Amino acid sequence: MTSVRHPEIVDPNGVIGILGGGQLGRMLAMAAARLGLRCHIYCPDDLFPAADVAAAATKADYTDQNALAAFAASVDVITYEFENVPAETVAFLNSIDARVRPGALALEKAQDRLVEKEFIKSLGAVTAPFHGVDDLASLDAGLKKVGRPAILKTRRLGYDGKGQTRLTDADIDLHGAFEKAIEYAWAEIGAAPSILEGFVPFEREISVIGARSVNGDICLYDPTENNHVHGILKTSSVPAAISSATAKKACAATSEILTALNYIGVIGVEFFVLQGGDVLINEFAPRVHNSGHWTLDACAVSQFEQHIRAVAGWPLGDPGRHSDAVMENLIGDDVHSWRALADEQNTCLHLYGKRDARPGRKMGHVTRLK
Ligand code: AMP
Repeated sequence: MTSVRHPEIVDPNGVIGILGGGQLGRMLAMAAARLGLRCHIYCPDDLFPAADVAAAATKADYTDQNALAAFAASVDVITYEFENVPAETVAFLNSIDARVRPGALALEKAQDRLVEKEFIKSLGAVTAPFHGVDDLASLDAGLKKVGRPAILKTRRLGYDGKGQTRLTDADIDLHGAFEKAIEYAWAEIGAAPSILEGFVPFEREISVIGARSVNGDICLYDPTENNHVHGILKTSSVPAAISSATAKKACAATSEILTALNYIGVIGVEFFVLQGGDVLINEFAPRVHNSGHWTLDACAVSQFEQHIRAVAGWPLGDPGRHSDAVMENLIGDDVHSWRALADEQNTCLHLYGKRDARPGRKMGHVTRLK
């Protein structure tokens, strides 16, 4: 396979390759277009909604080396809009001298919840107590270590609260016996390699969207306060109702992760805030993040533009916030209110162009400027 030798810096008129075809890819492509850059979407299944707004699209499997090589040859740098791109895809792209930003290290740490928690711990940051689970015996041992209530999560491929189940005293009453309750929980997550986490009695959830450039510059957006409904993000508000000391802790932890991963691009780091203001890291996503969508309308440079700047080797832009804002996801049937939302004052409506409003599907969002 011939080498593609991607440049360190992508000039305007260059092409950014994006692995993944969802709404994050769509908003990245729109931000790239504003900077005079074109995007080429690569995705094995539904190319839309990203391909709707991109210059080129390839529908092929992540393990199709011929298609990957042709894709790499047609772009100047490659990024991704979701974190479950197979490690072998990135390894292959690296082997032909394609430039993938953020690199393989960030994906390796973020794709496995146990590896991720151990990495966070190695930085000296605090997480919920956790224990790796491979069978009923290790689940039993884990419950003794982290206590109850606890949350059992698959190590890989969980998102929006999927691939996780709770273990509480009430579950044990319901099943009549401890052994039955843990068997049920284990079956519920498909007996897959998992992590058991102690339940954090958090006061609120926040996230920090951060970016790091090729020369190691870091910029951070203001922490966002997040509310989930049925495990799916419903609203993100800025400013978050936290002290400046709490904000500083979350921002410092985000910078530390960016540096430790030698990261290039935008990251989303999720935190639990405890009573008293201490923060625990829940997880991070090595990509633009749903809780950063408000930056499109409340900042001069959005998280999407920031990511494109970083992966293209450009200087980062100003992450400063010019308005307070509340972003609300339009999930499933919510999208049918588009006409009323389009009529609201100080409200920025974003629809992703998805045809089928299935329950739980992210169809768009609105950002209300305050
Ligand atoms: P996750 O997929 O890990 O982000 O979990 C989805 C949501 O479940 C989080 O945003 C929290 O609301 C809740 N959650 C996850 N882990 C814990 C935990 N260890 N303690 C309390 N709540 C949690």
